[in-house]
Amino acid sequence: MFNLERRSVLKAGATSALALASLPGVISSVSAASPKRRVVAESAFARIVEVGDGVFAVVSTPLDSEGRFAAPQTLCNGGLIVGDERILSIDAYYQPEGAAWVNEQAKKLFGRPVSDVICTHLHLDHTGGLAGFQDGAVGPEIYMTASTWALMVEQYSGGTAIEGTPFIAPPAKLVGPTRVIEDESQLVSMNLGGRSVTILPLAGHTPSDLAILVDDLPITFGGDLAWWGLFPNYVDAVPSKLAPSLAKLMSGGSRLMVTGHGGLVSTDDMAPYAELIASIDTAALQAREQGWSAEKAGDTYKMPASTADWGFFNPRYPERAIGAWFREWGMDDNAA
Ligand SMILES: [Zn+2]
Repeated sequence: MFNLERRSVLKAGATSALALASLPGVISSVSAASPKRRVVAESAFARIVEVGDGVFAVVSTPLDSEGRFAAPQTLCNGGLIVGDERILSIDAYYQPEGAAWVNEQAKKLFGRPVSDVICTHLHLDHTGGLAGFQDGAVGPEIYMTASTWALMVEQYSGGTAIEGTPFIAPPAKLVGPTRVIEDESQLVSMNLGGRSVTILPLAGHTPSDLAILVDDLPITFGGDLAWWGLFPNYVDAVPSKLAPSLAKLMSGGSRLMVTGHGGLVSTDDMAPYAELIASIDTAALQAREQGWSAEKAGDTYKMPASTADWGFFNPRYPERAIGAWFREWGMDDNAA
């Protein structure tokens, strides 16, 4: 079960909070048998894979054979959860074209568009495509935490000056939430008609991350708290919260984890990823003791043997990960 402290999470009279007492039942009563996998749609940048009845992972394939970002329309993994009344999209991808493609597939496959989108965190590879879900006057409800929206405005509303004009160009077509999650201390249950999901507020990849659990099937959408086969991005990480959040996601019994980037994996098999996170924690502590800069620590860092064949979106990611610890400790990156 999830190691959530009941008293701190459950608030009396809160109608949106899932009664926490029911969560262990939700988690333990579902079969851990491996779900069926069927590709139901495919494009140059992603494929949609059925991972359970009415539950689909959108798996992005952005890299070409030489490891370049050839097709970034979707960039992150996400998914579709189909209820009798509503279709929930997990995340909104990098570009409107990517989200629009996913929405078109929903219409083709299920006869109706996405009605709700949950953004797991602020990063543009998960939020930059939001505009693509809008179809004339019709568009989904967009859910994100208040802190995620505040961080998006803080990070992305600046942008670059457009020469010869008084305007600035943000790095993406920013779209805000229509439904804001203010209170990150409690679980939220969302009813899709005939099935429901649980939204679990966490942190670590960023100051505000959401994971989504399908209540009737052992499937979790971990956002960027979970990566598989790729070294994770720590650009906005709160490293002290990452390992505990991951432990929580791995402690709910055997579930299929739809990661934010890379492959799909059973939570039973995620130990190498936890080891990778722990190796960064160790490397950062060691660098602090030795008085090394994050750069030097990144250069000397070795992946654990269990993840030695994992890839990198960016070779500087270990340095950035150690730098995230330095930031949390209030240390100057280069003068450690
Ligand atoms: Zn991401």
